[in-house]
Amino acid sequence: MTYTEKILEIVKKRSSCESEFIQVVEEVLESLNIILDKYPEYEKTALLERFVEPERQIIFRVPWVDDQGNVQVNRGYRIQFNSAIGPYKGGLRFHPSVNISIVKSLAFEQILKNSLTGLPIGGGKGGSDFNPKGKSDGEIMRFCQSFMSELFKHIGQFTDVPAGDIGVGGREIGYMYGQYKKLRNASEAGVLTGKGISSGGSLVRTEATGYGLIYYVREMLASHDISLEGKRVVISGSGNVAIYACEKLQQYGAKVVAMCDSSGYIYHESGIHLDAIKKIKEVERKRISEYLAYHPEAEYHDKQNDVWNIPCDIALPCATQNDIQIENAKTLLNNGCIAVGEGANMPCTNESIAYFLDNGVLLAPAKAANAGGVATSALEMSQNSMRLSWPFEEVDKKLESIMVTIFNITKATAEEYGMPDNYVAGANIAGFLRVAKAMFEQGIV
Ligand code: NDP
Repeated sequence: MTYTEKILEIVKKRSSCESEFIQVVEEVLESLNIILDKYPEYEKTALLERFVEPERQIIFRVPWVDDQGNVQVNRGYRIQFNSAIGPYKGGLRFHPSVNISIVKSLAFEQILKNSLTGLPIGGGKGGSDFNPKGKSDGEIMRFCQSFMSELFKHIGQFTDVPAGDIGVGGREIGYMYGQYKKLRNASEAGVLTGKGISSGGSLVRTEATGYGLIYYVREMLASHDISLEGKRVVISGSGNVAIYACEKLQQYGAKVVAMCDSSGYIYHESGIHLDAIKKIKEVERKRISEYLAYHPEAEYHDKQNDVWNIPCDIALPCATQNDIQIENAKTLLNNGCIAVGEGANMPCTNESIAYFLDNGVLLAPAKAANAGGVATSALEMSQNSMRLSWPFEEVDKKLESIMVTIFNITKATAEEYGMPDNYVAGANIAGFLRVAKAMFEQGIV
């Protein structure tokens, strides 16, 4: 039994009910097999055993009062997975599907993602099974305040710095930051990222994950002499990542023909009008089917996952985990798809990833391709520490340069280990080596 097989056995036994967590650990360990012979000291110091076990897991009750005066109770999570290279850093997700397995898997991915940025940030993730959909502004505020009334004990600018994720945008971060300041009686802007500009947020943070994804995909295509101009693109999701990926693609002359939400998808052959999507999703907070009110010539279909049946050159899953199943992967390839960029976390199943790699589809893996959000969060932390704000162009240039560097590292690492164009392995190995080195230097802790 190899060292990685032994670790996978331990994880499967200890976390037998956590299928998403097992899925990500398995995917990462598969890439690490090839390098571990070079580092026998890692097995001797049980480095992988420690790497797959969170430093701390916090689970807490979140009671709040709805608009009818009824008491509601949700569950809150924060996984502080690995602090070897910096304070825990990772988003908070508010969605009814949130459970320990999902949060742990996202926190594990975050360790490697944050490492790839080259910035001093460790890995963490959190959230709640609270469903923000259909809640009033007052309900959202009371929930966020109750959530922070417990979370504040565990976070801080040098300890753990949460940010947004699905269901947590600028509004929610604002309410949580307000509550944190009240409880701490201190203005520590660096404790949360994704804040509004007036509260110490950074320009470009809103756009960062979507823009960063397109910078990475642009580099990946360019390394094969392919340009984004004129390419047909299908995007899943119509939230933060999807919207700004679409915006940057359109700036590069690509044509986005479909987007979706969890209810269904829209197909607009002449190209999606992003101003309508922004109005529906960022202002009105309505369903994507409303798009037809602005553009009746487009089509709406209510099976969200069928969005992958639409022929495209590039597929960008930007909604949620396990969005591209093996049947979707096969359909995409049959329809001529040449590249997939993971904007969401874990959007392709392990089977789909293997299928794309075996069939020569260029795959930009989430932990590298969507690292622009957390990288810009780290830039927000830097600005907060310096008590300065950089202009939009400056932050965008820094983001672009970080994404180009991440692409180059993942490409060079894949080549070094004899797997050219396997950016999945390149990202896993490069991300792991930085964290492993730091863990080894710091002894058994
Ligand atoms: P948002 O909440 O802004 O948007 C999420 C989008 O995905 C919405 O369109 C939502 O539709 C859709 N969606 C959510 N769950 C499902 C589902 N089960 N089936 C189909 N569609 C679904 O989130 P973000 O855009 O911020 O995040 C999207 C992904 O990107 C997540 O995986 C997140 O972890 C990842 N990510 C986000 C970063 C960021 O900076 N925001 C950074 C790095 C990764 P509906 O409105 O109907 O729920």
